Amino acid sequence: MRYISTRGAAPALDFEGVTLAGLANDGGLYVPEAWPSLSRDDIAGLAGLSYAETAVRIMAPFVGDSLTSDELRALCEEAYGRFDHAAVTPLTQLDGQHWLMELFHGPTLAFKDVALQLLGLLFERFLSNRDTHLTVVGATSGDTGSAAIDALAGRAKVDVFMLHPLGRVSDVQRRQMTTVLSPNVHNIAIQGSFDDAQAIVKGLFADRDFATRFDLSAVNSINWARLMAQIVYYFYAAVRLGAPERAVAFSVPTGNFGDVFAGYAAARMGLPVARLIVATNVNDILHRAIAEGDYSVGQVTPTAAPSMDIQVSSNFERLLFELHARDGAALAATMGGFETSRALRLTDAMRGQASGLFSSARIDEDGMAMAMRWAFERAAELIDPHTAIGLAAAREAGLARNVPVVTLATAHPAKFRDAVERATGVRPSLPARFAGLFDREERFTTLPATREAIRDYVAGHAVERV
Ligand SMILES: *Cc1c(COP(=O)(O)O)cnc(C)c1O
Repeated sequence: MRYISTRGAAPALDFEGVTLAGLANDGGLYVPEAWPSLSRDDIAGLAGLSYAETAVRIMAPFVGDSLTSDELRALCEEAYGRFDHAAVTPLTQLDGQHWLMELFHGPTLAFKDVALQLLGLLFERFLSNRDTHLTVVGATSGDTGSAAIDALAGRAKVDVFMLHPLGRVSDVQRRQMTTVLSPNVHNIAIQGSFDDAQAIVKGLFADRDFATRFDLSAVNSINWARLMAQIVYYFYAAVRLGAPERAVAFSVPTGNFGDVFAGYAAARMGLPVARLIVATNVNDILHRAIAEGDYSVGQVTPTAAPSMDIQVSSNFERLLFELHARDGAALAATMGGFETSRALRLTDAMRGQASGLFSSARIDEDGMAMAMRWAFERAAELIDPHTAIGLAAAREAGLARNVPVVTLATAHPAKFRDAVERATGVRPSLPARFAGLFDREERFTTLPATREAIRDYVAGHAVERV
């Protein structure tokens, strides 16, 4: 399998190449040159397989020659063996039509573990062949940081520098990061906001000399390997609910459009998907884009679902590439315009094409709280604010009663205890694996929110290319 850039001007790479590269060097994102396809028999043959074995079947065509199938199987077994549920991503039934897919049984209780646990192992495996050392630099408002740190702690040939805004992440989130004491993990609290942290990281990547000198790498969802790992659970859930004989709909709490794009990929590979519901909070750029064709950047409003408080959704470019009939030069022109004006209009033809599969909803804080109460009263399930937005959107989508709708449960309710308690009156408890979190030693460095301070710190602690 080869991968091409959405902007058509970067070299094509194999799976190993795109995993290590992250972003394409023409500013685009890597996508498979062609979508692999599974026949109805292939899909029926997934019934009864373990999660890890399903992952091997779905990912093998994307991995191509970069790993043997035994190597891929060993990595999947290791990554998904760290989840605390035998089904890895179990389904829970809420009523005759609605289901939850619990994606939060990984080490940090966030759905990002599903992809990052595997990505950490892929990095280590691919770097073992090479004379390279990666320096992962990221900014986090909470969830991505802990999932990335857990996935990379102790891995050979990788250092991770994670910036969080001092005093502005919850105690649980901070401790999940700062109590990991592996020497290759460097937590930095910056004296500024999350936006400052993100701007600093962007600045480091834009400094080509620095980026090359330390082999800077990113673990955000622009990395193709992350999206690939997320395709698996769409197949796994749909097969359990009757695919390929029956089509299933999915409602996806959406921020960067990575998770829901994985659902799109599953549909392109032949999975019968009745509908992909893009659920947003009041930061609704994606809802406006899908419902009205208006992809224009507004102000970010902080909500109880912070992982969806996003205005520009980096992975939306991957869908736009498909809607531009995979014409990289045309998309590069569109994206150039967007980067200047911060606005883009989808043509009616593009909207028509997208609406064959996608619909969308914007859910405000009341709608979110109502969905939390509904799940609790109806099925005694506590759900987190992100999941609640997905469920609210699923319930208002107006699908036929005989179509099962799976809402992706993207975070454990205990990660957002205050919001859950406000809506339901019940305070969710942290799972046993977090016992002792508040007794463990913490380690982090506090630095001013300037690019110079962070650059000097990274340079002083990372391994330089020889
Ligand atoms: C990251 C995240 C999302 C959004 O996923 P995208 O792939 O960015 O659309 C939703 N919910 C939670 C809890 C997340 O951590």
